Amino acid sequence: MKQFAVIGLGRFGNSLATTLYKMGNEVIAIDIDEEKVENIAEQVTYAVQADATDENILKSIGLKNIDVAVITMASNLEASILATLSAKELGIEKVYAKAMNDQHSKVLYKIGADKVFLPERDMGIRVAHTLATTNIFEMIELDPEHSIIEINAPEKWDNKTLDEMDFRAKYGVNVIAIKRGKKFNISPIAEDIIKKGDILVVLGENKAIEKLESDQK
Ligand code: ADP
Repeated sequence: MKQFAVIGLGRFGNSLATTLYKMGNEVIAIDIDEEKVENIAEQVTYAVQADATDENILKSIGLKNIDVAVITMASNLEASILATLSAKELGIEKVYAKAMNDQHSKVLYKIGADKVFLPERDMGIRVAHTLATTNIFEMIELDPEHSIIEINAPEKWDNKTLDEMDFRAKYGVNVIAIKRGKKFNISPIAEDIIKKGDILVVLGENKAIEKLESDQK
């Protein structure tokens, strides 16, 4: 069981804190707004009303030995920066933060954030993929440069083996599974034949995946 502190209980922070708690983790939820704290009190380990920009306050709450702190108040730039800095200064092992945009993200990394989330940007990318390319069903971002996508095999791939398609050499991507109807082939081999309409689960660098997507049309 891990110990988490979720700092800032807006829509994102609230959902993060209550989900982590439901998954069986210990969660300390913090917000400067008393009402936000009261609303979440029954759904986390404990909820505290406090100003998270102050390192001494974080220390008095007992955050020093927490495993992960997530700073979520992205729309308040000053509070987000000060709270991230305070959490790092306190010596919390992993400090994650939510940013509003790329500049904000850069600042948070510079002051020591271990990982920065840009949920609005990421969601925008995902929704764009779903809307614009009918063949892409899902996309999982592994890190900013790598993803796993599902891609629908077009006519021109029909009856070709993975060996003939040579995805790794041509595009630098790996086919990690092939789905045909309800059947899942989770460790495809070079001789496996692709049929039009198969769903290929592909892992690779985003640039390589984009190239594959445009060639696939
Ligand atoms: P969302 O978009 O997820 O709703 P917001 O940035 O609007 O996120 O939510 C920020 C939350 O952080 C609010 O609930 C706000 O009261 C809280 N907050 C802002 N400043 C501080 C602070 N200094 N200390 C603790 N909580 C803060």
